[in-house]
Amino acid sequence: MSFYSPSIEKLIEAFEKLPSIGNKTAARLAFYILNASKEETDEFVSAIVNAKKNLKYCSKCFNISDTDPCIICGNPKRDQSIICVVEDVRDIIAMERTHEFKGVYHVLHGSISPMNGIGPDDIKIKELLSRLMDGQVKEVILATNPRVEGEATAMYLSKLIKPLGIKVTRIAHGIPVGGDLEYTDEITLTKALEGRREL
Ligand SMILES: [Zn+2]
Repeated sequence: MSFYSPSIEKLIEAFEKLPSIGNKTAARLAFYILNASKEETDEFVSAIVNAKKNLKYCSKCFNISDTDPCIICGNPKRDQSIICVVEDVRDIIAMERTHEFKGVYHVLHGSISPMNGIGPDDIKIKELLSRLMDGQVKEVILATNPRVEGEATAMYLSKLIKPLGIKVTRIAHGIPVGGDLEYTDEITLTKALEGRREL
C-alpha cells in the first residue's frame, strides 16, 4: 500500500523508469517537480516533447539528430572515406570531445550478444555494409566497447569488411577492458585512436 496520493505515485513511477533512478531518487525528483514553478515544469515538459518530436536518426550514420543528414555527415570538411563504428550515439560525443577524429561515424545501436538474443540483424550492420559498397571508404575504425560483446562485434565486422579490400582497424590502447567509451577521458581516447591497429 502506498502512502502517496495517486498523482504523486504515478509521477514517482514515471521517474523510476528512467535509467539509474531508484525509488528514493524518484520520490525526490517527483517532489521537486511538485514544488517547482509552472514555468519551470512547462519548460521541462516541452523540452521532452520537442526532443521526441524533432529528433530523428541520420539516414546515413544513425546518429540522433535534428537534421537528416546529421551535422557530421553533412559537414563537407569531414573525411567521408574514414568511418568510425561505435555502439551508441553517446560514443560519438565521447569521440568528438577528443577533436582528433575528422572522419564520419556509423552507430550500430548495440552489439552482437547471443546471450541477450541480439544477432547481427538486430543492429545496423546491413546499413554499414551498404555504405561501404560505393568504393569511397578507405578505412573502417572499429570503436566498439572493449567488452566481450564489443570485441565479438568487432571480429564479426572485420571478417565481413576485410574481403571488400577496405582497411579495418581497432582502437586498442588505453581503454580499460570492460570499460565504456562514453566514460573514457579525452586523452585516453585520443591515444586509443592513435594506437589503433589493423585487423
Ligand atoms: Zn550522420
